[in-house]
Amino acid sequence: MLIVMRHGAPEEDIRRVAETIEEMGYQARPMPGKQRTTVGLVGNDGRVDSSRLAALPGVQEIIHVTKPYKQVSREWKPESTVVRLPGGLTIGAEEVVVMAGPCSVESERQLIEAARAVRESGATVLRAGAFKPRSSPYSFQGLGIPGLKLLGKARDETGLLIVTEAIDAEGMDAVAEVADIIQIGARNMQNYSLLKRAGRVGKPVLLKRGLSATIQELLLSAEYILAEGNPNVILCERGVRGFDPATRNLLDLSAIPVVHGTSHLPIIADPSHGTGHRDMVMPMAKAAVAAGADGLLIEVHPTPDRALSDGAQSLYPEQFDRLMREIRLIAEAIGRRVAESVGVRA
Ligand code: PEP
Ligand code: MN
Repeated sequence: MLIVMRHGAPEEDIRRVAETIEEMGYQARPMPGKQRTTVGLVGNDGRVDSSRLAALPGVQEIIHVTKPYKQVSREWKPESTVVRLPGGLTIGAEEVVVMAGPCSVESERQLIEAARAVRESGATVLRAGAFKPRSSPYSFQGLGIPGLKLLGKARDETGLLIVTEAIDAEGMDAVAEVADIIQIGARNMQNYSLLKRAGRVGKPVLLKRGLSATIQELLLSAEYILAEGNPNVILCERGVRGFDPATRNLLDLSAIPVVHGTSHLPIIADPSHGTGHRDMVMPMAKAAVAAGADGLLIEVHPTPDRALSDGAQSLYPEQFDRLMREIRLIAEAIGRRVAESVGVRA
């Protein structure tokens, strides 16, 4: 529920509304706007007596948010969320941000080589997993803490920002120490205790769509993070399970305009996991930018045939370089631009 204050309503009226909401047993989120302040009521269990709030001085109207998700909806916040990262990089404004790197951190040499290559081609964020959620317990599970240390080293050496995955609450703090963005993977999209933890971690979160999650379920999972007080959520379309083995997943690019229409959160696309084959990554990456994606997540490996995970979908550095050149043209054609490295973003 949103309590819209009258234009120029004094501070004390806004405070009174917030206090009344708290007295009623809910949380108040005052949101000052250009025209007027709105106070969000968090935790509405359907028993809120809105007439009590409507009668307070300075209140202009009460808006009932119709969607099951509240704080992530455009009804709650009409203007798009812009996630601000170190070094002035933004996600959700006109920049299209490219996050690239190997699926897993494998060794210092592999990671630094990959980092240098993607930076050279213009990526601004290095993406690699130290903790890997694998379908089989016998597959490579990632280097863990030593992998995080290597990511810190790659950040220092290249100035790239880091996005890496936290797979459980125990590992969250260690991940948050090196990550500029914390990834929650597809398999954990509905791990609600992990989402709540991510809501309190104080870093932006990249939330990937679950293997067979609806867009509404994705947005409800994002709501868990916002409800804990973290507004910096970036959604990621990474394909849902389809019926055709010709592709690893069915990359649902229509999720991009759906999310942009119903939510203020930015959404990026991951054509690597979305297709599973490197030759399909390039066309689908271009299609995602054309469809309005706020960024891309692309797997790139210096020697994909030797990769310990996801080699078949990892681009060779030369392919990635070409892709960057091509998406710059597409971004420009739709009035956006691909974010460029601006030296060490510390
Ligand atoms: C990954 O990003 O490497 C990954 C495991 O992706 P997803 O969670 O989308 O399967
Ligand atoms: Mn992967």
